[in-house]
Amino acid sequence: MSATNLIEANDLVKTYISRKGLFGTPTHVRAVDGVTLSVAPATTLGIVGESGSGKSTTGRLLLGLEEPSEGQVQFDGRPMPKLKSNAWRQLRSRMQLVFQDPLAALDRRIPIGTQVAEPLDIHAVGSEKERKDRVETLLQSVGLRRDQASSYPHELSGGQRQRVVIARAIATNPDLLVCDEPVSALDVSIQAQVINLLRDLQETRGIAMAFISHDLKVVRNISDRVAVMYLGRIVEEAPSEDIFRRPLHPYTQALVSSVPVPGTALKDRIILQGEPPNPAARPSGCAFHPRCAVAMERCRVEIPAFVSVEAGRKAACHLVPATSET
Ligand code: SF4
Repeated sequence: MSATNLIEANDLVKTYISRKGLFGTPTHVRAVDGVTLSVAPATTLGIVGESGSGKSTTGRLLLGLEEPSEGQVQFDGRPMPKLKSNAWRQLRSRMQLVFQDPLAALDRRIPIGTQVAEPLDIHAVGSEKERKDRVETLLQSVGLRRDQASSYPHELSGGQRQRVVIARAIATNPDLLVCDEPVSALDVSIQAQVINLLRDLQETRGIAMAFISHDLKVVRNISDRVAVMYLGRIVEEAPSEDIFRRPLHPYTQALVSSVPVPGTALKDRIILQGEPPNPAARPSGCAFHPRCAVAMERCRVEIPAFVSVEAGRKAACHLVPATSET
């Protein structure tokens, strides 16, 4: 593990068993298939890809909410403890999850202040009075009023509810936030506010973030580095600026070209053909070949290795030559 990374995942594989009907033959589906990534403190790794790319499963593996079938996650230099073990429970205060639907994440019957206090209660942080003060300060730090602690989720807007979820996630001063589509359910104007909030919190608290989204516009605004996933694998990983200015992998090129840029003609955009394949029926060779406009015969038979292609940049494509460093 590099001394500079807070979290590292090495060759993660997550396999599920899928069965058609009660007596159908079981099929092993590799939802995550050899993912290696890392996040340094106070930086954000954006993880993008279409639905079924394995990005959410990767997020859950990073938090130890799922156990990998193969590979390992290291948090702060130590192997991730087993789910629900004492060591894992203790570590939970240092790593939190923010997910898409704040209404589903909150209990409608309980005032939001009580819900923000939950992690403080679980980890027995301070006295009751200190916890109450801390909750009100947390609400303030995410742009809500102190007196809103007594409000119920239905009394707040969608954006305010997501702020409550974020306040709860940062209550224990975590080192890592895994944000899984945290703004997908919000209006575009509110999305920008929540992204700004996450960025401010990262700056003031030094939190590392894995930011999972299907929306490249959102990822661009918050990420230092971006990992592009396709069918359980990372196909390109690079500094955010490089990904958006000069994508190398044909899949990244198609995703980036779908983000509207003022002054760019529609005809210059690459239209991604077809739907992502079913992970239970992975195409041979490069899994992207049935949709790739520049696929060659070799792509149908040979899986491209995920290798260094430039300093600080990796890709998995037969058309992108490797550097000598891998
Ligand atoms: Fe396209 Fe072949 Fe590269 Fe896969 S390996 S992205 S099919 S060119």
